[in-house]
Amino acid sequence: MRYTRLGRTGLTVSLIGFGGIPVRRLDRAEGVRVVRRALDLGITFYDTARRYGDSEEKMGEALAGHRQQLVLASKSQRLTKEEVTAELEESLRALRTDYIDLYQLHNVSEAGRYETVMGPGGAFEALAEAKRAGKVRFLGITSHKRELGLRGIETGLFDSVMLPFSHLEPEVAAGVLPRCRELDVAFICMKPFSGGILTTAEQCLKWVLQQGVTVAIPGIGSLAELEQDASVGDANWTLAPGDLAAMEAERAEAGKTFCRRCDYCRPCSNDIPISEVLHSTSLLRRQGPSYMGNGQYERVKGFVESCSQCRECEPRCPYGLAIPELLRERLDEIQLTLRAAGWQV
Ligand code: SF4
Ligand code: SF4
Repeated sequence: MRYTRLGRTGLTVSLIGFGGIPVRRLDRAEGVRVVRRALDLGITFYDTARRYGDSEEKMGEALAGHRQQLVLASKSQRLTKEEVTAELEESLRALRTDYIDLYQLHNVSEAGRYETVMGPGGAFEALAEAKRAGKVRFLGITSHKRELGLRGIETGLFDSVMLPFSHLEPEVAAGVLPRCRELDVAFICMKPFSGGILTTAEQCLKWVLQQGVTVAIPGIGSLAELEQDASVGDANWTLAPGDLAAMEAERAEAGKTFCRRCDYCRPCSNDIPISEVLHSTSLLRRQGPSYMGNGQYERVKGFVESCSQCRECEPRCPYGLAIPELLRERLDEIQLTLRAAGWQV
């Protein structure tokens, strides 16, 4: 594993970090096992959030006894000083530590939210106070919108910015990466696989590292994913013509309106697992019609047909996806594919 400097924090971190969302899907023992294996593989940057289910608890258990060897990052999506102050205490308890190295404002993806968290009585005041108290060492901002990430780092108040960045959406980093270099602010690359849409994982990681991100934090949800992602930290990043062609094919397949599986749109008023349904066509393309066997087609169809078009989910999607229409489009595509394969649907 190679290591790098986390911008002006001066901290040293592994080039491949541990994105902590997917461990929430694992049972406790498996989640702890995966995080501990990451330590063995030389990963020293761990990113989680209060909002990621029990991710912090699993990391806290797995990393206990190794605190000095690693850089721990967490975040809060709360809006006010009071709320974030309380949530930070929960994070510290869950992570079994008395300080967090990098504490971030989470998902500042709308201008209104930015104004609130940076305004009087807003979340940033809690971060600044926690830093003065030694509960956090450095401050960061995370967003799904380049302009808000940029706006954050221009204040001079943040030592890092986290944005989704992959060859599927290279525009997200336009202007931000060079500015980070000028300001010596760390660029933390989340979603290097665009939320799991891209399956050329090794190539995607090499590509983002080639672009000069400080650290890439793929979401890691299994030992197999971990081993594959961590191996890039040692690898030669050269991409062969065949790699580039495979990446280009994936980009063409994904199109412009794709779901990054961040689940910020939840909860659906009709309990539709929105990201799962939106992702089902990718799995169908990859695995073939058998993916829709054992009642899966009926399940997806039922979900799509239960959408009442209330649109409560839409304002929560940081990518502005027209969710009810996309759900319907996915079902249409599934039906076309299955009919072409001889299914009576
Ligand atoms: S528009 Fe459909 S998917 Fe969105 S919250 Fe309403 S029922 Fe759920
Ligand atoms: S629809 Fe939007 S908010 Fe929901 S999972 Fe997909 S990208 Fe995220």
